[in-house]
Amino acid sequence: EKIIIAIDGYSSCGKSTTAKGVAASLGYAYIDTGAMYRAVTLYFHEKHISLTDPSDIEKALSEINIEFRRNKFGENQVHLNGLNVENEIRKLYVANKVSDVSAIAAVRVALVDQQRKMGQKRGVVMDGRDIASVVFPDAELKVFMTADSTIRAQRRQIELMAKGEMISFEEIIANIEKRDKIDTTRKESPLIQVEDAEIVDTSHMTLDEQIEMVTIMAEL
Ligand code: C5P
Repeated sequence: EKIIIAIDGYSSCGKSTTAKGVAASLGYAYIDTGAMYRAVTLYFHEKHISLTDPSDIEKALSEINIEFRRNKFGENQVHLNGLNVENEIRKLYVANKVSDVSAIAAVRVALVDQQRKMGQKRGVVMDGRDIASVVFPDAELKVFMTADSTIRAQRRQIELMAKGEMISFEEIIANIEKRDKIDTTRKESPLIQVEDAEIVDTSHMTLDEQIEMVTIMAEL
């Protein structure tokens, strides 16, 4: 019997890598909802959409088509109006803006609706901030991931360096802490730990350990 696995938590604590690994080991689909918010952010950036103009936002949302397509490795890649934006959306200029864009109610309504449709077939691992609290409150497994912010920043720096983005540690930790703050204090679907969530603190765990732990939880 296929289930829905909701993985929520702070930025850069290994949510997406864990979710991807769990999906692979269970033969489930992986849906990265952060990538959807990032894709919307990229579009708003490119079209200079004012975040305070509701009609501008509505119009932009009606022009946006987001879908996941599999690459040759079987990985889901986010596409914005037909274009693979998987790399572009990981850049810092998008990361710096995404929390403001995802605090807009109309943006959330549109994306949550699409995410629910994507989960209809079940057998999905979905990661984000509001999966257990809003998108799938009935998910059979709810995981809340957390890790020390210094450790998260170190991991993020290694990742960015591997991509050739040279960013100071201070700048990375500032981005992480700023996003944590906006995500947990915003009015619209703040990041919260639901009552029946399993807490996974990854500060001292390897990725393999995280994947194994959540896979075992899913099989129980
Ligand atoms: O997971 P990721 O770091 O890619 O998410 C980027 C941002 O998108 C988060 O900091 C958060 O502001 C927003 N987000 C959200 N709800 C989700 C997933 C992401 O608000 N379900």
